[in-house]
Order: sequence, then structure tokens, then C-alpha cells
Amino acid sequence: MSESVTIIGGGLAGSEAAWQLAERGVLVRLYEMRPRRQTPVHRGGDLAELVCSNSLKSLDANTAAGALKYELSTLGSQVLRCALETRVAAGGALAVDREAFAQLVTESLEAHPNVELIREEFTALPALIEAQSPVILATGPLTSSALEEQLVGLLGQESLAFFDAAAPVVEAPSLDTERLFFQSRYDKSGADYLNAPLTREEYDHLVRELTEAQRVIPRSFETAELFQACQPVEEVARSGHDTLRHGALKPVGLRDPRTGQRPWAVVQLRPENNEGTAYNLVGFQTNLTFGEQERIFRLIPGLEQAVFSRFGVMHRNTFVNTPRVLSRSFALRSHPFLRFAGQITGTEGYAEAIASGLFAALATYAELRGLEAPVLPVETVLGSLFAYATNPGLEDYQPMHVNYGIIKALPAPPRRKKERYAAYRQRACVAVEAFREQHRFLSLLPAYPVPFLEP
Ligand SMILES: Cc1cc2nc3c(=O)[nH]c(=O)nc-3n(C[C@H](O)[C@H](O)[C@H](O)COP(=O)(O)OP(=O)(O)OC[C@H]3O[C@@H](n4cnc5c(N)ncnc54)[C@H](O)[C@@H]3O)c2cc1C
Repeated sequence: MSESVTIIGGGLAGSEAAWQLAERGVLVRLYEMRPRRQTPVHRGGDLAELVCSNSLKSLDANTAAGALKYELSTLGSQVLRCALETRVAAGGALAVDREAFAQLVTESLEAHPNVELIREEFTALPALIEAQSPVILATGPLTSSALEEQLVGLLGQESLAFFDAAAPVVEAPSLDTERLFFQSRYDKSGADYLNAPLTREEYDHLVRELTEAQRVIPRSFETAELFQACQPVEEVARSGHDTLRHGALKPVGLRDPRTGQRPWAVVQLRPENNEGTAYNLVGFQTNLTFGEQERIFRLIPGLEQAVFSRFGVMHRNTFVNTPRVLSRSFALRSHPFLRFAGQITGTEGYAEAIASGLFAALATYAELRGLEAPVLPVETVLGSLFAYATNPGLEDYQPMHVNYGIIKALPAPPRRKKERYAAYRQRACVAVEAFREQHRFLSLLPAYPVPFLEP
């Protein structure tokens, strides 16, 4: 095969995509602007540099992060294989020697006969669009400003976000529905929301804890635009004791069916998916540390045992409005030869970035061969994340990582979390193995074992 594909960005997603295509005989032109031009957080010139923690999260097979690694190894991920080769001891997590890891990825791609590594900032999107040749854009959360401007020109300002201000998401089975009630404000458009009513004392306690809680201090490059556009819940609480009660926690238009009264304040939970397996705490975008989020948000009635599928975060982060502009295979609906991968799609996390690079490569390869892009089954953690991210009905899209809150519900989910997760994991393993079997024509690279912790 002599087709060529341009990949922009040699981070985790771009490196995996380049490697996958190159192994299948496709010629890859991989653009990486570092070390000539740095992002605010990268430090060196190697590909696949980890910008923060050196951990790719859990190796516990029963967690969603563990299941993702099983799926990646089953589909023959090359970058995950490098992570396993450069692993350092880290208890139950897959942590790597970050320099050795990035070096291994870089040397492998530099030596690959089908990869041309171009150390330049890519700023020629209009010309690429004109040429209509296949492209994977994987420039990450800190896409260079010149390219970002071209993306705004192509997609429109409203289809791009420049920071994430995500509220926490909790798993539905962990909520105490005896203490919550379904209702929409003024009973408009169905009882879509789950509402947590707070008494005056409960509200006072919550506000006090929010104002005193430990916060993550954002880096200077993140603060200005971010806080102008969206205030973290703890900052709103600091601005006045009753501000939240007149804002996100206002009780107007709601009546607790158990008392027939309007509560003092209400926390609203909005479903994250059609199946209602996970709920978002409306208005709770936050900069609190994860530990503090767990402690304080569990003070909300009905959330005492809440399992968090995603904690709230606020970061500088460029990402496209995936549900609105991308297809199920992350191709731009208006220009299907342009595919997005990595965190710029709003999927979040190192392993997720690797996975989306792999998937973009599979989809691009299928199309080069005149075949339909594959769809990962929604029973896999990766397939469920992709289905979530590309669901056109999703409003207020915020970055998401793999988790069991957004996976297709089991027909009879075990009540206990450990058993429920084990069941999800078993189903995901079967689904990804079946996918591999059915997609032999994609020439999947060999699967390899991952040293999981024994459940
Ligand atoms: C500050 C910060 C901390 C994070 N910490 C973690 C963490 O601890 N754990 C975790 O799981 N996830 C973390 N993430 C989220 C995410 O997993 C990582 O950002 C991940 O690296 C995303 O992979 P990627 O391939 O999409 O982007 P990146 O790894 O950022 O790669 C994108 C590449 O594109 C290059 N590039 C950008 N513009 C251009 C251009 N115009 N031309 C050529 N090259 C270009 C960049 O130099 C970069 O090498 C963090 C994100 C941020 C912003």
C-alpha cells in the first residue's frame, strides 16, 4: 500500500496513530513542533512526552482504566507496549520512567521506514483541506495558537472550547434515591433531573465546607480566560453565603413530593446518558482537590455513598465539540478525510489518548481500503467512551475519561460495586476479543499480555 497520511502532533495519540498506520505499510508524515516550539507544559523534544503524572492509571483488571489496557493490548497498541517496557514499580498502577518511555517511542518512530518525522509547527490546515488527503489531527489540549486559529476558521468559534470546566459525575447505582426526587423545574419537559433537597442547616454546612476546602492552584497560563468564563462552585460560595441558593442551587420551581414544600436549596443532577447510569452535578465545576470533592459532595443528601466516575476539573484545554462536529469515527462531518484524535476530541487521559490514536488509525486504514470505518462495541470501555463523546444529543460537552458510569447498563446489574465492575469487565473482554476476530481485515497488530493485578 503506498497511500500516505498526514498526522499533526506527535503526542500520545499522534504517535500511536503514526505507528499503527506505518506498520500497515502506509506512509506517514508526522508533524511535531517540539523542541523548536514548546507548549506551556511540555519540556523536551521527544514524542509522547507525559506532561504531568508518570502514571497511566490502574492495572486492576476490574477498574475501567484496567479494562482499557486490556482492550489496548488486545488491539495491539504500540505505545502501551512501550509503557509496559519502561514500567517502574508503582503498586497497582502502570507508571513509567517518563524519559525512557518517550525516548523509546521517539526512537522507534524515527527508525520506522514508513514514518517521516517533520519537526515543524503545522500551520497549513487550509491547504490540507483543499488537497482532501487523509489527515489525523492530534495536537492535544495545548494546540499551538496559529493552528487553533485555523481550526476556529474551519469550525467556527462555537465548535471549539478553550478550557474545560467540568462538574463531577456520579454513578447512578451509588445514589440513595430514597432521599432524591425526579422533577424538572416547573415540571417542564419531563422529570429529567434528580434533585437533592437541602434543609437550611444542610445548605449552611455545605457552603461552609466549600469555602474552607483545599483547592488545586491552577497554573498561571490557565487562570485568566478560564475564570472569566466560568466560576468554580467554591468561588461562587465564597462570594456570598446565599449566592449559590440564588444560582445553581436555587429551589424555585421545585417541590419535594415527600413534604409538598419547596426545599431551602436544591442540588440538581442531570443524566449523563440516555440510560441514566451516571449523573452530573449541575453547576459544580470546581477546582477542589479530588479528595475534597469526595468528602464535601458526599455531604449532599442522597450522595453519601456516591461513587465518582469523574471528578470536576478546570483546565486550559482546547477541544472540539465532538458530539456536534465529529462522526462516530471522529471524522469531521463537513470534511470526512480530516479525523481528530487524542485529547482535542474531549476524551481525557493518557491511555485514552493512546486509544483514540489507535482507533483513528484503524478508521483511516479501513477507509484507505475502501471499507467502512469500524465501530467499537459499546460493551467495551473504549467503545462506550466513543459512543458517549460522539452522541449528537449530548449538550454541554465536557471532557470525559473511561468509566463504568457511562457504559451500557447490564441487564441485571449486581448491587455491589465490586461484582458490578467484574461483570462489566468480563463483558468488555468478550466484546473486544470478538471485535478483533471480526476485524481481521484491519490487520490488527499482535495482542500481548498485560500484568494485571489479580482481582
Ligand atoms: C497540564 C495538563 C496535565 C495533564 N495531566 C494528566 C495526567 O496526569 N494524567 C492523564 O492521564 N492525563 C493528563 N492530562 C490529559 C491528557 O491525557 C494529556 O494531555 C495527553 O498528553 C493528551 O494526549 P494527546 O496526544 O492528545 O496530546 P499531547 O500529548 O499534548 O500531544 C500533542 C502534541 O502536538 C504538538 N503540537 C501542538 N500543536 C502543534 C502544531 N501546530 N504543529 C505540530 N505539533 C503540534 C504538541 O507539541 C504535542 O507534542 C493532562 C493535560 C494537561 C493539559
